[in-house]
Formats: sequence, C-alpha cells, structure tokens
Amino acid sequence: MALTVVGSIAFDSIATPFGNRQRLLGGSAVHFSLAASFFTQVRLVGVVGGDFGAAERAVLERRGVDFSDLEVVPGGKTFFWRGHYDFDLNTANTIETQLNVFADFEPKLSEASRSSEALFLANIQPELQRRVREQCSSAVFSALDSMNYWIENERDALIEALGLVDAVLLNDAEVRQLTGQPNLIRAARRIREWGPSLVLVKQGEYGAALYSKEGFFSLPAYPLEDVVDPTGAGDSFAGGFAGFLAAHATSEPSEELLRAAVAYGSTLASFNVEEFGTERVARLTFPEIERRFGEFQRMTQFEHLELPQPGS
Ligand code: AMP
Repeated sequence: MALTVVGSIAFDSIATPFGNRQRLLGGSAVHFSLAASFFTQVRLVGVVGGDFGAAERAVLERRGVDFSDLEVVPGGKTFFWRGHYDFDLNTANTIETQLNVFADFEPKLSEASRSSEALFLANIQPELQRRVREQCSSAVFSALDSMNYWIENERDALIEALGLVDAVLLNDAEVRQLTGQPNLIRAARRIREWGPSLVLVKQGEYGAALYSKEGFFSLPAYPLEDVVDPTGAGDSFAGGFAGFLAAHATSEPSEELLRAAVAYGSTLASFNVEEFGTERVARLTFPEIERRFGEFQRMTQFEHLELPQPGS
C-alpha cells in the first residue's frame, strides 16, 4: 500500500548536552517519511517557503519519497523550531516556534495522495487532520499523532479526529493529559472507546506499548550507549510502524504483524537518535535495519523453563 503523510516540514535548531546544530532539516512529516520509506512508497504533503532548498529536497529524493504535493510559498519562510534537551533526553524544551508558512497551511492533496491506501496524520491542527482523513476515503489503514498544544487548546476537535482513524500514537504524558487518567492501561482503554482500535503509547527511552483488541504488548527501547539527539524519535517510530504495516497489512492486521511493526518502529527510532536531525536515517540501509531488528528480537525473548519450584 502507498502511504500518504501530512504534517510539518521544518528547519530545526537543536542543542543537546552533546552538541548543537542550526537549521537542520526536520519536521514531523520529514522524520516520518524517511523512516517509512524503507518499507513502502511514501507521498509527503506539506508546505515550505522559498528557503527550502535543493539540499533538503535531495534528502527526500534519495529515499524515494514522492514530494510532488509539496506546496512552496516563494516569498515565505519554512516553519522553524528551536529546542534544547538537558540530560533527561525524554523532555524537549521549546525555545522558539516560528510557524511562518505553516500558520496558514491548508493541505492540498493530489488524486494520487488521496488514493493511497494508508494515511498518517502527523502533528497538525486536529480540524485539518479530520478534513484530510475525510478526503482520503480509500485509506484502509489510518493513524494519527498529536501533541500537548492541541490537547490543551483543541481537545474536542482532537477527539473527533481520532474517532476517524485506526491507530493513535501519543507519548505517555499526552495520553494522561488527553484522558485525565493517570493509569496508562485505563487511559488507553478510554481512547479506544473513542474509536481507534490501536493505541500506541511512546515512552521515550523506556520504549513503547501497544494496546489492541488482543490486549497489551510492550517493548523497551533498543539499548544505545550514545544518544545524541532525540528530535524526531517519535515520528521515526511512527514511520517504521506505519510504513511496515502499510507494506504488509490488510485492513485488519494480525497481532503478530502489529508486534513486528512496533519493533520496526522502535528500530527506526533508535537509529534516528544516534545523530542530529535526519543525519543518521538519511544514510541508513535496509540491511542495517534488519541486523538491529534481529538483535532486538534476541534481546527481548525469554523462555519459561520447566524447573523444580523452590520448596516443591
Ligand atoms: P518528535 O518526533 O516528537 O521529536 O518531533 C520532532 C519534530 O516536530 C521536529 O522536527 C519539529 O520540527 C517538529 N515540531 C516541533 N513543534 C511543532 C509544532 N508545533 N507543530 C508541528 N511540528 C512541530
């Protein structure tokens, strides 16, 4: 299945305890597209200004991402985000957000983008997510991401949008904030009652959990000694997850397929955080993904040994 993604395209200036970089290619839809491109044809829908150049396009081109629906506002400036992380790399601190051309973003989907069978609504205004979902009537699998800002300011519209998708991906704090429920199991159940059959809760360096009809599945993050920049980890997770499902699933993916998708999502996220911005994923290869996926599988498997019980 081809996969359409709608979301932010950005220049990011990032400082972490391990260095800093200015005006890197970023944005939720970019991180998502690069990760998903290892599995399926990705169609990227977004808006940029005249400052979005050949170097940025080349990163997408090299991964075969179709960006023919990229809207360019010639005199405008691309969305800009500046953030920093302290030693707790799970928390991004926003220093500056310049919406620029993103402020008036009205996604325009070509016939090809509308006809994709899989759809990812990255972090944009919930009302836009709903309108895009309604345009993509051939999507048999759709998923949505959001953030604290929309939960705070447009909660009802967000609940309406998530009622239209199969999967919702949020981090643990967002899940608690959205539902007002501190317990993640109860909170995920509440979200499932609003419509989506799958709820994925991202927990940064602690991994990710899947709540589905079958119950619960959880994976730790792939253990890395050198985490340099966590920006885009959530979107790379989403790209690996949704890209793999789009490549292999039917409208009702099996539990096995869903679990493998969580593992691919975690694998892509682990590569993303090894370097700044999109640097690592931009030069990643599929054999590297497969090797790490295999190590991950061995690391998270265990047996129930038939041993005498103490005292028996
Ligand atoms: P994450 O995967 O959650 O780390 O997302 C990181 C990306 O989100 C960065 O590349 C930013 O450009 C982008 N971003 C930051 N703030 C916003 C926002 N308000 N709306 C859309 N995208 C954003």
